[in-house]
Amino acid sequence: MASGDYDIIWKETMNQIREELGEQEFAMWFNLEYLDASENELTIGVPSTFYQDQVRQRYQLYIENKIRELIGKNLPINFIVNTRQMEKAPALPAGSEKTSTSTMTKSVSSTNKESKKPHSQLREDYTFNTYVIGDNNHFAANAALAVALNPGTTAYNPLLIYGGVGLGKTHLMQAIGNEIHKKSENKIIYITAETFTNEFIQAVRENNTATFKNKYRFVDILLIDDIHFLQNKKETQEELFNTFNALYDANKQMVFTCDRPVSELKDFNDRLQNRVGRGLNVDLQIPKYETRFAILKKKIEPYNINISDEVIELISRNISTNIRDLESALNKLVAYTDIIKKPVTLEIAQEQLRDNFMSPKQSNLSIEIIQREVADYYGLSLGDLKGKKRTQRIVFPRQLAMYISRKLTDYSTIEIGQSFGGRDHATVIHSCDKIEGIIRADPKVESKIQNIMNIIKTHGVKS
Ligand code: ADP
Ligand code: MG
Repeated sequence: MASGDYDIIWKETMNQIREELGEQEFAMWFNLEYLDASENELTIGVPSTFYQDQVRQRYQLYIENKIRELIGKNLPINFIVNTRQMEKAPALPAGSEKTSTSTMTKSVSSTNKESKKPHSQLREDYTFNTYVIGDNNHFAANAALAVALNPGTTAYNPLLIYGGVGLGKTHLMQAIGNEIHKKSENKIIYITAETFTNEFIQAVRENNTATFKNKYRFVDILLIDDIHFLQNKKETQEELFNTFNALYDANKQMVFTCDRPVSELKDFNDRLQNRVGRGLNVDLQIPKYETRFAILKKKIEPYNINISDEVIELISRNISTNIRDLESALNKLVAYTDIIKKPVTLEIAQEQLRDNFMSPKQSNLSIEIIQREVADYYGLSLGDLKGKKRTQRIVFPRQLAMYISRKLTDYSTIEIGQSFGGRDHATVIHSCDKIEGIIRADPKVESKIQNIMNIIKTHGVKS
């Protein structure tokens, strides 16, 4: 066959699939580009490694079967990452943006029924319109939009949004709720896992679980935020498991958020873990500079306020932890201008935000907090982490804890070594090098580590 023939076969396959799956699903998962072919393989480009994983898992066999039906022989597909496709954001109007960020305004606002009363459990400003799409979240945002447009579709049920603190999980989840609320009479419940737990405990105490069950098993859309909170809560997990099954069987949409992939939850009912992870899992990453800039611009829109792009740039460059930190810096300036009634100059911004810009090192964070959190995250004991055992299961968390101690505190390598069962400073340096090497080799690990650091920072501040 000539290579042009393969191109035609590919197009025909895609046409058939589009018909079969519908525009929504197709637009989301078939940002695929025909690159090359030989007698025994098709090479198809995908926009990212995440996409690559998902497409392999979900559609590879399906597409290969389609091709076999067409040409009567097997032609395996090799999906390779082709960053050029990144710019073509899949389902959403990419708009005319220069920074590769956009919001979802166009695709959803056409169906507005503006006059409806807001949903009492949802923040009105957490909508798709105010959610800036960037490199860090476009899959998650697409998935969320797909859910909002077609709730209950098996392929996205449940939707799990995971990622570190302040990266936009709650906003996205509530955007789904707001969008569905605006357009339908669906009964929607938004609840944090913590409140869900408390309500359940109270229901048990008051001998009134029937009311509790009725409340959650007869909704159309159930949004449960921060399910990592359910770790160690055996009875509540069991209850959620039953709720899940009832809703799933009735094709009711569920959305969960979590601060880590479900596979990394500890003390979590296996069957529930399996159910929660069985739909679509999408993650939120830390946004790059352009996206941070775009988010801040978006955040000041509703205020009639004079903050220059220079100042926005300053904040976006200096704060790269998460969006919540970015916003709190902005709010500080907004409050300040409110008082002085003058435009914020670069100097004023520098001065006012000095604390926010300080290095991520936090003086109140102890090595022990870091050790406890890392041990906890990996299901190890503190003794294991500090001890002498050298199994791989322990060595990586141990090295990681040293690396994080180095990153987040001002302790010297000597002091860190001492806190890890009296190791010497060379061991600490070696561990840090090791982790840095791993990060360089696999950028996915970096965001995972960043997530763990975010968890440590929030817990560290609380304790
Ligand atoms: P999480 O639930 O992951 O901790 P939140 O959803 O509470 O994070 O987000 C923290 C803040 O950042 C919120 O004010 C939210 O509106 C804002 N935010 C996060 N992501 C975006 C985004 N892509 N565009 C606009 N605002 C965002
Ligand atoms: Mg949240």
